[in-house]
Amino acid sequence: MDYSNQELALREELASIAIQTYRRGLVAGAGGNVSARVPGRDEILITPTGVSLGMTTIDNIVKTDLHANHIDTGNGHRPSKETGFHCGIYRMHPEVNAIAHVHPPHATAFSLKFADLPLVTVGATAILKRVPCVDVALSGSDELRDLVEQGFARNPGCRCILMRAHGIVATGPTLVAAYNAADLIEDTAKIAYLSAMLGIPLEESVKVAFSPIPQSMRV
Ligand SMILES: [Zn+2]
Repeated sequence: MDYSNQELALREELASIAIQTYRRGLVAGAGGNVSARVPGRDEILITPTGVSLGMTTIDNIVKTDLHANHIDTGNGHRPSKETGFHCGIYRMHPEVNAIAHVHPPHATAFSLKFADLPLVTVGATAILKRVPCVDVALSGSDELRDLVEQGFARNPGCRCILMRAHGIVATGPTLVAAYNAADLIEDTAKIAYLSAMLGIPLEESVKVAFSPIPQSMRV
């Protein structure tokens, strides 16, 4: 396939990040999808439907406009079935240039509580601020698209959300930033789970992370 140098570089980075999400265990099987905005154009590149993120290549990535209309580049692949909410986020948030929607086990387990992700470390509190949870709907449905878009619209300043009984959506100004946010969410959920296993109430863990003891008071 013939791509501009700019598009080729974006396809290479998108494939690399998508494969990394699979290797990190943020997604299993053919689930999840990762996308990036094409700079200066009302277009995105997104991973294809029905293909494991671990098998993403520069040539099976799909291009759409910002209304999820497939721009056929002749590679025979179709865009992810969640392209609708990716496009909705890009339309609403010009500062977002990349989105990772994945199904990490610990974070997804917390989504079943249908509450904010407990931010139990100083780093998660500083970087993620807050990770609210949106309700459940069928994968690829208009209802799920609307829930995700409303989740971001109703929580200004939130870069990431939990999806009840499903997974997470992490956004960022770059592909690396979106990946790092998804990675941090899963790690935070794992630490929250471990601290709960140690018998520490989640509310207590969140309180400690949110209000670390000032340096002057430490022994
Ligand atoms: Zn999903």
